[in-house]
Amino acid sequence: MEKIKMTTPLVEMDGDEMTRILWGMIKDKLILPFVDLKTEYYDLGLLHRNATRDQVTVDAANATKRLGVAVKCATITPNRQRMEEYPELTEMWKSPNGTIRAILDGTAFRAPIVLPCIKPVVKNWEAPITIARHAYGDMYKAVDLETDEPGTAVLTFRGESGAEKTLNVQTVDGPAVFSAQHNKEASIRAFARSCFQYAISQKQDLWFSTKDTIAKVYDGAFKHIFEEEYEHTYKAEFEKLGITYFYTLIDDAVARVIRSKGGFIWALKNYDGDVMSDMIAAAFGSLAMMTSVLVSPDGTMEFEASHGTVTRHYYRYLKGEKTSTNPMATIFAWSGALKRRGELDGLKDLTAFGEALESASLQTLEEGVMTKDLLSLADPSFQARGVNSEEFLDEIAKRLCKKLA
Ligand code: NAP
Ligand code: MG
Repeated sequence: MEKIKMTTPLVEMDGDEMTRILWGMIKDKLILPFVDLKTEYYDLGLLHRNATRDQVTVDAANATKRLGVAVKCATITPNRQRMEEYPELTEMWKSPNGTIRAILDGTAFRAPIVLPCIKPVVKNWEAPITIARHAYGDMYKAVDLETDEPGTAVLTFRGESGAEKTLNVQTVDGPAVFSAQHNKEASIRAFARSCFQYAISQKQDLWFSTKDTIAKVYDGAFKHIFEEEYEHTYKAEFEKLGITYFYTLIDDAVARVIRSKGGFIWALKNYDGDVMSDMIAAAFGSLAMMTSVLVSPDGTMEFEASHGTVTRHYYRYLKGEKTSTNPMATIFAWSGALKRRGELDGLKDLTAFGEALESASLQTLEEGVMTKDLLSLADPSFQARGVNSEEFLDEIAKRLCKKLA
């Protein structure tokens, strides 16, 4: 079989632990045999980030801006425990996802991969719920301060004009911690625009929720900007399509989402989206079935899985065990990136390959071959066989071969 040609490379960001192992297997078994793969490779593995003082992350994000499409493996965000595990780390490097999102100023859309044999935990959910997570600022770009004596914290903004605004944060009577967050009007507006546009392209209702009753200024700005964008730019199109924009408080939204039928886009601030996407993923199936794409206002897209590096499986793998780690979301990151590359470059075969890869993966599950995390989720009447990651990928490869023949 002749391999499918590519013209423009995509940005490939390698990562850590078990997902790095899966990454290699997916390429070897599902992509390289069929596609004459062109990538610009960036090693975002923790030790290489450390060796480059995290420059590699910035380079990968800039390459994504230049080339328009990226696929990313899960990566370790170091914490105190990781600093002990990897004594060679010279700094507690920031989350690569945070860095990339800040550079691309995009919105992350996360949707579960849904299968007839896996019923959502929430019985009334009939269609996937897509989470749109604002990908800039708030806690992820905050500065934290630890103090060890009584005193007062103030927050000062110094304008370029020389004007200053100062607020008393808190007077404390002992050791304390502080955090200062920000967001930018332009980023919130870009977030709103990509959400409205994505809702229109998917012909789905858009929900948005914040805590503007408490954070009157901060969350109030989000609510206000969304309303403004809706009224001025998108309302007519929404009405024509018969879809709605719906704003409500985050706690009310959580309650309504649980009682809903699904099938809409739920826009959330950065932290809310981080948390709620894991909840939605778990309720629809597993975190391993959650896909993610970061979309910037100019249409640049970075595809990845929502889950992390699956550390516990990696340590079993290092002991020589064959693990049953679910590669679905990482496969869909690759297929998504290849489809997008095909679309942008007018390569129908490449787009068709991405579709065939997805359909072969779904077919494998529907035919009862799955990784063990899915066994307990599948309908009890469904006869399924639990396999390890390698066997699962081989089964997909078999079906993919048939589809492409
Ligand atoms: P995790 O890697 O998502 O794994 C948590 C647990 O979820 C696993 O132990 C496993 O449960 C289950 N799981 C997740 N993905 C799975 C898969 N593909 N197949 C089967 N089971 C799966 O989260 P974590 O343990 O909290 O984080 C590990 C590392 O990942 C951290 O260093 C964190 O910084 C990083 N992380 C990276 C990203 C990213 O790059 N986008 C996102 C989140 C976390 P069982 O062990 O019970 O089987
Ligand atoms: Mg999360």
